[in-house]
Amino acid sequence: MAEPEFEQARKELVSTLEASTLFQKNPEYKKALEVASIPERVIQFRVVWEDDKGQCQVNKGYRVQFNSALGPYKGGLRFHPTVNLSILKFLGFEQIFKNALTGLQMGGGKGGADFDPKGKSDNEIRKFCVAFMKELSKHIGADTDVPAGDIGVSPREIGWMFGTYRAERNRWEGVLTGKGLAWGGSLIRPEATGYGLVYYVDHMIHYASGGQESFKGKKVAISGSGNVAQYAALKVIELGGTVVSLSDSKGALIATEGPGFTPEVINKIAALKVDRKALTDLEGYDYHYVDGARPWTHVGKVDVALPCATQNEVSGDEAKALIDAGAKFIAEGSNMGCTQEAIETFEAHRRENRGTSIWYGPGKAANAGGVAVSGLEMAQNSARLRWTSEEVDEKLKGIMKSCFENCLETAKEYITPAEGEFPSLVAGANVAGFKKVAAAM
Ligand code: GLU
Repeated sequence: MAEPEFEQARKELVSTLEASTLFQKNPEYKKALEVASIPERVIQFRVVWEDDKGQCQVNKGYRVQFNSALGPYKGGLRFHPTVNLSILKFLGFEQIFKNALTGLQMGGGKGGADFDPKGKSDNEIRKFCVAFMKELSKHIGADTDVPAGDIGVSPREIGWMFGTYRAERNRWEGVLTGKGLAWGGSLIRPEATGYGLVYYVDHMIHYASGGQESFKGKKVAISGSGNVAQYAALKVIELGGTVVSLSDSKGALIATEGPGFTPEVINKIAALKVDRKALTDLEGYDYHYVDGARPWTHVGKVDVALPCATQNEVSGDEAKALIDAGAKFIAEGSNMGCTQEAIETFEAHRRENRGTSIWYGPGKAANAGGVAVSGLEMAQNSARLRWTSEEVDEKLKGIMKSCFENCLETAKEYITPAEGEFPSLVAGANVAGFKKVAAAM
């Protein structure tokens, strides 16, 4: 079966590894790459559940256990009608190297189902979660494989699945992350991906401007309106930036006039999303709404762009439009948010505009904060204790700082930049993540 998303993610990694000096320095890593490209194990199962009419329904469930060289398989569960093996293999593959970049001991995996939570009642979603975990519980464990949330799976779904795991296995263990606080979750986990993204970009801005600039006064275009987009937006505002766009699968909401989105509006949007409503249901504000569009070509002049919705949400043309709109920093809150054409556009700009080019931060580094705090949740569960928000946030900041520095220093070491050229963060992230996994393998 053709696996376009997985091939895209693999090609993206391989092309940067081959353009670096990694294989010259470590010829044995070529074999490691071949081995690492095949999941250690793929579990596929049927999920049979009963809808509100008492009818039998069936979906396809998966868990891709990709690589356990660094620790238990770790990665989210996605419930979305587009889920198939190609998408889960791409996400699992990315997750291996992302998890390596956190510096924590976590392997890589991903799972989910082609179940569409949209239009389902709470009762139906709960029944699906229970049926899904009845089978998945046979294949995971706190030291084996620790799933978390992703698109379509929030702490509520994690809760239903955690309860099912306890009942099935008669064990309380940190087998899932992103849990509620009352039953073993970590403070700052909901915020972690969005906050971590903004911390990472803050380092990009700081480094690029020789310590002169920060988010203060910057216009920031964000796509998506789920958990990642919401907390990225709140952190941008806290650091003095203006958020000029958000979006969902139906269209984009643009706020280029005045103060942009305020925390109050973002909290209202968060409440809408809990009720699985659309941005069009937001009442009482006269933002500009663009039906059926992504924000990138509608935001006017911006300094920063943060794709936080889903894969391949920035095309080559949109990448060009963002550069024309003045965007200097682009970083992915979503996994593989940029198409290969978009990445090539950013990378060409970096090579051709020495010292004045844009900076592109790939998702496997820039959005690693979520899984990093999942790793901290696992640590707290194993130690049977809980850290304060301040402690977790400090650790998250430290992880994002090391992650940025690792990408930067690895790029300098393995890809000799031309005179005045900015280091490639995408190559740095790929080489740094892969090198760590290959060494462990
Ligand atoms: N789904 C998130 C990601 O793509 C988090 C995974 C986790 O916490 O295990 O990184």
